[in-house]
Amino acid sequence: MKQKTDGQSKKGITQLERTAYHEAGHVMAHFRLHVVFRYVTIIPAEGFLGCVRTYPHGRKFREHIENGDYTLRERDRLENDIVIYFAGNEAEKKYCGRYNHQGATSDRHNSIDLAGYIAGEGEALEAYLRWLRLRARDLIANSLNWKAVQMVAEALLERKTLTHEEGRMIFDKAYGIEPFLFPSEAQK
Ligand SMILES: [Zn+2]
Repeated sequence: MKQKTDGQSKKGITQLERTAYHEAGHVMAHFRLHVVFRYVTIIPAEGFLGCVRTYPHGRKFREHIENGDYTLRERDRLENDIVIYFAGNEAEKKYCGRYNHQGATSDRHNSIDLAGYIAGEGEALEAYLRWLRLRARDLIANSLNWKAVQMVAEALLERKTLTHEEGRMIFDKAYGIEPFLFPSEAQK
């Protein structure tokens, strides 16, 4: 079903907030899908308003994907990457009520590039991308996951940049998981 949009975002939402929720969506998906990243920032740089800096894939992974002789595990990893790409826009949409076309473009291009290795082109590619986008939407729709997105977005608006570790602590808090402390730290 096509989403009805009037081309207007909810009143009073700033670009920075949109960016924070967008990046927080990516961050939440990273944690839920167990993909480590370096840091996330909403400090704009050349060509983007914010970003999650990730670790590049190894040469072997890229070769396997490009040659089509990937393992199930590698395919799984690639699909997770695509779900992560979609999660940014899905989070932003839930927050603002519409997609951000500026931020959506590079995520979408990256998704199509990756998905093409698995599903080729045409209808199969479209169906495959749609399924992966639905997976991202389901992640965002989960209330605990959404709470994590909100907490990460708020932290980003306050601190602008979070490392994977800092994000992890917020994420655990959202899920009510006690952070692990060494006995010496716990006594403080
Ligand atoms: Zn993005």
